[in-house]
This record gives sequence, structure tokens and C-alpha cells, in this order.
Amino acid sequence: MIDYQSKLFAKTIKEFPKDEEAINAKLLIRAGFIAKQMAGVFTLLPFGLKVVNKINKIIREELDAVGCQELFMPAFQSKDLWEKTGRWDTDNQVMYQMKDRSGKEIGLGYTHEEVITEMATKYIQSYKDLPKAVYQIQTKFRDEPRAKSGMLRGKEFLMKDLYSFHANKKDRDEYYEKIKEVYKKIFKRIGIEALVTSASGGTFSKYSHEFQTISESGEDTIFVCNQCQSAINNEIIDEYGKKCKDCNLKLNQKNAIEVGNIFKLGTKFSEALGLCVADATGNIKPVEMASYGIGPTRVMGTIVEVNHDDKGIIWTKETAPYDCHLIQTRNSKSEIRNKFKSQNIQSKTENIIELLEKAGLDVLVDEREGVSIGEKLADADLIGIPYQIILGEKTDEGEIEIKDRKSVQSKIVKIEKIVDVFCPQIY
Ligand code: ATP
Ligand code: MG
Repeated sequence: MIDYQSKLFAKTIKEFPKDEEAINAKLLIRAGFIAKQMAGVFTLLPFGLKVVNKINKIIREELDAVGCQELFMPAFQSKDLWEKTGRWDTDNQVMYQMKDRSGKEIGLGYTHEEVITEMATKYIQSYKDLPKAVYQIQTKFRDEPRAKSGMLRGKEFLMKDLYSFHANKKDRDEYYEKIKEVYKKIFKRIGIEALVTSASGGTFSKYSHEFQTISESGEDTIFVCNQCQSAINNEIIDEYGKKCKDCNLKLNQKNAIEVGNIFKLGTKFSEALGLCVADATGNIKPVEMASYGIGPTRVMGTIVEVNHDDKGIIWTKETAPYDCHLIQTRNSKSEIRNKFKSQNIQSKTENIIELLEKAGLDVLVDEREGVSIGEKLADADLIGIPYQIILGEKTDEGEIEIKDRKSVQSKIVKIEKIVDVFCPQIY
């Protein structure tokens, strides 16, 4: 897909927003990926939506590959349902709760265990119906007290939530380990390091596992073993101790961002909401459950926190809004000066666009008139697409300059070889 920069709805902004503290918010707003409506509430602009869609595509591919099925649940949730688990009253700080015109009390979902478990009673009645796993990627609402971290902590944000149902603990535990591996794959493809971190299991079980990305801006404190990379959340460090159990080495304290969290829920929800099955001998038992979350919008903010420099964002290859940024450095002055050369650049551009389009690549073309070369290059660095194809008068006919945003290295490539550059084994 090819987009032309002069036609875009959003634009880069000259100055950093004054009211933002978080690096991800500053850069994403300035580069035209998000727009703030109020604290913790953002629009995903076309660039931002492309990034989130790429993250979601990776999540979907990896979950679908292990047999999870996608559905989409409502954000409105009835009080009755939440009273059955007792969470209407205990969680009223985080859950937005309101009344409709008839006086009926409803809440906005900040998680979906209640909804999915009650719904599952319609379809799961026997152990033969198990195991099952369903997920959604949906907007969640949380009345967060400190929404100052841009995309890291929204009052309205995207969550991928997966729920699995099992006939017994053994099956549930095996599945939990399987999804843990799937999560590792997802974060690897996204291009961020996410350490599996033992954490509190909240009200559900003793422990849960978080996926934590080390970053100065992280709100969590974790202790990491440099040898085996295992990590422990500060919240359980007193139980665990500050030495790695396997390597016997001192753990190092780090700030980190929680990008994912997986929980063994046990039978807390299935008991409360009557999700029971008959086993082979006819005994009725509550279903064993687990839930698994990833925050795609928080992941987007995390990528920016850990991949940027003083010039702007550096997207990872699989999450960049476009595969490459084609920058025409012809300007009106040079056009007058050298009509022949500028025509050359135009036909070169068209030629390259055709090659890239044929290869199925997503390209942003900066063909803006009246914008200086310096401004175009600065914008390209701010936006952070991994490869910049710079089309200027410097290179000979039949050749182009490709700059790697991350290493800042440029190389001259023959036009017909251009597509090869985007194959990872070459760069
Ligand atoms: P935190 O401790 O940071 O408040 P949490 O533990 O309450 O998060 P979970 O309920 O485990 O969050 O949610 C699953 C995932 O959803 C998190 O791992 C995170 O990636 C994402 N997430 C949670 N809260 C937010 C938020 N306010 N804004 C953006 N993403 C969020
Ligand atoms: Mg969590």
C-alpha cells in the first residue's frame, strides 16, 4: 500500500507538546501517531492505528495458530453479573459504573471474566466440550488514578484478553505453559524484550506471570537474574528473596513496563457463575480457568520508550506503520535549476514505487512540494520508519540511497535490487 504524505489527515507537529511528561506521548503526538483528548484518552491517528493493527495482527496469528478463537464482547456489563462474583462493590474504584435512563446499573468492562464465564455456560456442559480458548481485542475502561504516561496508562485502552477453560488443573497448567511460550513468540516478533516475571496472582492464585520490558519509565520494579533472565516482581520479592533460585546469583533491580500478564484463575469465576461440567463418571465439577492479557496500545508506547533517539521514534520492523519511507529531495529551486534531473527523480520515484508495490510493501512517499530537504529528513527521523529511501540528485541513474533509521548507516543500492534490502537476511 502506498500513501502520499501531502494527502495525510494528520501532520507532524513542530514542537513537543508542553503538557506531556512521558517520552512515548511526546514523540507519538509530535510525529502524528496519536492525538490527546484528555488525560489518558487518545485518538489513534492513521499512523498509530497502523502500528496497533500490526501488533494485533501478530497477536492474532500466534493465538490462532494454537487454536484460540476470536470473538468480540460488549463493553457494557450488567451489575447483576458482577454481583455474582462480588466484584461490583470491591472494584468500584477502577470500574466506571453508571445508571441508564431506566435506573438500571451498568458498568464499563475493565476486564471480561464475568461476561465470558456466564456466556460459556451456554456452550460448555460436558468435559467433552473442553478445552476451549477464546480471545478478543477490545477497548477497556479503567478509572486510572495516574494517567500521565501516555499510551502506557490509558483510562480507555486496548486489551487483548484470552480466556481458557479446562476439565482439570493438569490440562489448564499445560495450556498455561503453552500460552506462555506463545507470548514469548509474540513479543519477539513485535521486537521488544519482555521478561517472564513471577508476580502476585492477585485474588485468584498465589502467583501470576507478567511480561516485563525493562525501561526507565516503567512503573513496576522487578529483580532480574543476569544469567538466566528470570525475573521477580518487587511485590513478591520478600517471599522469594533477592537471589536467583537457579543460578544463585544476586538479582538486579530494574524499572519495567508490564506489557502482558497471565493468570491461573482456578474456579473462582466458574463457581460463582455456575460454569460446571460432568466428568466421565458423572461427577459435576466447576471448570478450571485461566486468563491472559496483553495491552496492544501499551505495547505501542513501550516500543517508543525503548526505541527512540534524540531525533525521534525508531519502529521495529514488524510494527512500523510502513516498511519504508520514500523521500524525494527534489525541491522547486532545483527544479528550475535542473529540469532534466528533477524529471529523472520523478520517473525514478515512479519506477521504485512500482517495484515496492509489486513486492507487497507498505510505503510512505514524501512528495510534498515546498518543504525543505532538511525538514523532510527531520520528519522522516521523527516518524521513525525503519528504512528511508532518499531520492536526490546525489545518486546516479539506476541507483538509490537507503538509510537505516536505527544504525543511521546509508548505502547505495541498484534500483532493481531494492526489494532485497527489505529481506532481513540482507541487512
Ligand atoms: P497495571 O499494574 O499496570 O495497572 P494491570 O496489572 O492492572 O496493569 P492487567 O489487568 O493485568 O493490568 O491487564 C492486562 C494488560 O493490559 C496489562 O499487562 C497491560 O499490558 C494492559 N493494561 C492494563 N492497564 C492498562 C492501562 N491503563 N492502559 C494501557 N494498557 C493497560
Ligand atoms: Mg497485570
